[in-house]
Amino acid sequence: NYTWSNDVKDILQIVFQLESFRPKQLSVINATLSGQHVIAVMPTGAGKSLCYQLPAMVQGGLTIVVSPLVSLIEDQVRSLTSKQIAVKYITSTTPKEQITEILHTISDKHCNMKLLYVTPERFAKSKRFMANLQKCYANGRLQRIAIDEVHCCSQWGHDFRPDYKYLGILSGMFQKTPILGLTATATAHVLSDVQKMLSIPGSLVIKSTFNRPNLYYKIIKKPTSQDECISIIENLLKHRYRGETGIIYTNSIKDSEDIAIELTKRGLKVGCYHANLDANDRTKVHTKWHEKKYQALAATVAFGMGIDKPDVRFVIHHTISKTMENYYQESGRAGRDGNHAECVTMYRMQDIFKVSSMVFSSIGNLDHLYGMVKYCLNGATCRRQLIAEHFDEDWGDTDCNKMCDICSDEQSEIEEIDLQWHCKTL
Ligand code: ADP
Ligand code: MG
Ligand code: ZN
Repeated sequence: NYTWSNDVKDILQIVFQLESFRPKQLSVINATLSGQHVIAVMPTGAGKSLCYQLPAMVQGGLTIVVSPLVSLIEDQVRSLTSKQIAVKYITSTTPKEQITEILHTISDKHCNMKLLYVTPERFAKSKRFMANLQKCYANGRLQRIAIDEVHCCSQWGHDFRPDYKYLGILSGMFQKTPILGLTATATAHVLSDVQKMLSIPGSLVIKSTFNRPNLYYKIIKKPTSQDECISIIENLLKHRYRGETGIIYTNSIKDSEDIAIELTKRGLKVGCYHANLDANDRTKVHTKWHEKKYQALAATVAFGMGIDKPDVRFVIHHTISKTMENYYQESGRAGRDGNHAECVTMYRMQDIFKVSSMVFSSIGNLDHLYGMVKYCLNGATCRRQLIAEHFDEDWGDTDCNKMCDICSDEQSEIEEIDLQWHCKTL
């Protein structure tokens, strides 16, 4: 028991209206409240935000939250504001007068702001921001610095953001302020790189299991012709996933467009999302999907971080991912609400060659791709176990609960028959 234990419990229930903690949330909260630098590694949907939002309400002072995306910041600020929590944010689009007011507040000894969200470039580009943060620190009011999506610090991560490198100065500049980094990227070399970048060697790493018991993993044999591939997806959307929302990942912009167009022709509501859309169109497409006006988006990996839809019921990979790590992140966007969701991958050998040239030019070695192929080619080992091995975890052999096609062979047979039936009816 800690001096704050009762407060923590009360705040969880009264302010956040939650009954109990999810795995590792309390460990992270206790560790950061005791003043240590912590890196929290938890899968998507595990509830990382609470690990800094709740401590912000326990002690006095200000928590700075660094977050890479304006949309993520806006969502969180909206939700905290509805809980009557004093929170503000600064992004590149915040009007000057507003920034002045916020900075004035944080440098004030009697500031009652609990959380301030900022995008990382704030630390690099604004001397005024840094000066006021220093005042806040000098007043003994800089309680904690939370860095969300902290893997963005690392070049090895799947989402490197150059602005994150400026965060390396914080631990030296604010020596008494604990840093809390949060990520869903568990790879050991990314984590040690993150510690190095933040100059917090030896910081406590708290990792929760990456097992997502509510996700059903499945591989489908991918036909040679694009038309047949699309028929499989059409069949899934019209039957198995009827009335549900999901994502179809492809590895090229052209595929995402072709699939969306063809499925639309066949009477489905499917949009497409990729890096060539301008910001306006991206928001439009994302919103339509969020509001269930699209059943699915055919998307490249440009559709990624910032998807905050809890009830994504399926993620279909039309082409394998570049690495197991990428696959886990992409498929992991399904089922964040904890309810049953499915991760289906369409696999054929030719795609290895298609993907390998991309992998080789961006990563420089193919080991990571082999992990992905091993996952698909396997016909005997539980898919979940292969994912666990990838993350150096042991989920035990009872953990699957028939939640992969290997462990529930009945399911995959049904798919084979459906498929043949479907091809015959074309
Ligand atoms: P992450 O950042 O790890 O992907 P979030 O912080 O966005 O996850 O949380 C995912 C969802 O889980 C949110 O809807 C959040 O309200 C919910 N959540 C977080 N902690 C708990 C909890 N202890 N009990 C119930 N729901 C929770
Ligand atoms: Mg998060
Ligand atoms: Zn299994």
